Amino acid sequence: MSSERGVVLVVEDEPAIADLLRMYLSREGFQVLVESDGQRALSAVSEFRPSCILLDVGLPGMDGIEVCRRLRADQDWTPVLFCTARDDEVDRVLGLELGADDYITKPFSPREVVARVKAVVRRARGPQAQSQAVRLGQVEMDPMTRKCVVAGRTVELTATEFDLLFYLMTHPGQIFSRDQLLSEVWGYAAMVNTRTVDVHVAQLRSKLGDQNVIRTVRGVGYGAEASESGADAQ
Ligand code: CA
Repeated sequence: MSSERGVVLVVEDEPAIADLLRMYLSREGFQVLVESDGQRALSAVSEFRPSCILLDVGLPGMDGIEVCRRLRADQDWTPVLFCTARDDEVDRVLGLELGADDYITKPFSPREVVARVKAVVRRARGPQAQSQAVRLGQVEMDPMTRKCVVAGRTVELTATEFDLLFYLMTHPGQIFSRDQLLSEVWGYAAMVNTRTVDVHVAQLRSKLGDQNVIRTVRGVGYGAEASESGADAQ
């Protein structure tokens, strides 16, 4: 299942709060994963690469601060929105320079959490260098609406798929290495997992079908150019 807005990992040990957050975030189009402890949260981050982590500070065993510290030590810059229960937790979160993207204090309204999550995800994407729609062959992408239309049909892309394809399409004919794409699209300073790029390219190819615009240069990387079938498809 893919989700237009991306995946939010909710790390929360109180089931009632977790359920409430899942309900509100799902309603907004996010795919929601819930984990109740820090160790499992770390595994879920590397497996599912969420767009945002809603991270409770007070967790049994490894607390939320340690989870964030480990992610950052591992050069993982997934946006983190901390949920804090007490003022002293807020001070710790703010004082430790953990690379958190935001924090919210309990008790919170689920609506406010949703608004914060959206903002964190939007910020993490950063301003698009080019805010105008791009077109290559039969593939059109609008960064304002984040819609991708292929041969007149809307194709649902995850946030990362959209960002990757948009990046390639705004640099037509240029070939990028996996490391360059990780740095430009995922925002990683260091190479983390080159398979991530390959998996996303494979997913995009299957979604684009016979209108595929992604070209592989063996041993070098990926680029975008109009597909041969694109011209006479319609
Ligand atoms: Ca808790």
